[in-house]
Amino acid sequence: MMAPLPYYCIYCGHEEPQVYKTYAEGNLVKLLQCSSCYNLVDPYCEYDTTLLSINVVLQNKKAYRHILLNTWFENFWKLAIVFLFCESYCSWCFQKGMESKANYADFYELETNFYRALLRTIVSTAAFDGLICCPF
Ligand SMILES: [Zn+2]
Repeated sequence: MMAPLPYYCIYCGHEEPQVYKTYAEGNLVKLLQCSSCYNLVDPYCEYDTTLLSINVVLQNKKAYRHILLNTWFENFWKLAIVFLFCESYCSWCFQKGMESKANYADFYELETNFYRALLRTIVSTAAFDGLICCPF
């Protein structure tokens, strides 16, 4: 669902009154160009939820801008949980010594390492957000 006015270009952040224009009684839709950078204002409004979700998981900045600026997105806590799990998974995969532990027989140790990575990510994200949002 598209948000009410104003919309923002996902490339440059310029404010635009419309993302698309409809013709032939709504049967034909044309995406509009940004008046500042001349890219399409928000091509993600044509994407289905699956493609948009894949772009979010891949941490595409334009997909995040579409969700945060041009839609009625209210479930920020769900997005934060997805982001924390993705970041923890990356941290878990790049741990030192992971290559030497290629023996996957000890699955519980691997799972414990993932939960440690998740806890470390939660703490570091909370510390970062606390410092960024701190009013002093
Ligand atoms: Zn633009």
